[in-house]
Amino acid sequence: MTAGESMQGTDIVEELLTLQEIDHRILKIEDQLESLGGEVAGLRETVETLEAQVARIRAEVEEAEGRVRQFHRAVEAGRATLKRLEARSVAVANMQQHLAVRSETDTARRNLRAAEDDQLDAMQDVETARGALKAAEAELGEATAQLAERSTAVEGLRTTLEGDLLHCGVSRRTQESRLDRRALQLYRTAGGGGRQAALAELTVDGVCGRCYTAIPKQQQTEIRARRHLAICEGCGIILYPGSLA
Ligand SMILES: [Zn+2]
Repeated sequence: MTAGESMQGTDIVEELLTLQEIDHRILKIEDQLESLGGEVAGLRETVETLEAQVARIRAEVEEAEGRVRQFHRAVEAGRATLKRLEARSVAVANMQQHLAVRSETDTARRNLRAAEDDQLDAMQDVETARGALKAAEAELGEATAQLAERSTAVEGLRTTLEGDLLHCGVSRRTQESRLDRRALQLYRTAGGGGRQAALAELTVDGVCGRCYTAIPKQQQTEIRARRHLAICEGCGIILYPGSLA
């Protein structure tokens, strides 16, 4: 397939290559803008995760502190019970009362010891949770600072890239205005404006530079003579003589 004889193949290919360069530059800037957005979003997510972690550990500290207070009251109560039983034991009137007080005292001692153990465990839990909280708060502080720092830097970069993008948009319109409708249409059909190349070299062996389809001799001659804008029948790419690159 070839474009009309009236087309100046070489000039058009050069203009199309320039347009493709602009299109690729635009895609690259858009990618950079997207990755900047992704970077900041990633840092923000880290900060949010750490904030949730700090809140969770803080709740753990409070819960353990609550248990310390609760077992502390149990210990106090146990000690008061023992004191009361001690007073009763000196005032027993018979063996039966003596045995009853002794049995109650044994139970009260066991209960006190259990409450003391629970209190110690809870105090240990408080210590552990406070240590974890301190570490998580430090990590959060670091992540928050990093987010603030990168956000500022990214804002600057974004402004620059958006300026470049506007500039490229103007260049693209100018470049498009230099091409006729048919050439532009061939370029777009061949994938121009996308991520893949819309133009490929005709290799010295006479095959398409992209899909390696053999190009008929007559068409090769025309491409090399730069008379036509030629399309590869294998992949639809616009072919141009290698010497142009
Ligand atoms: Zn091809």
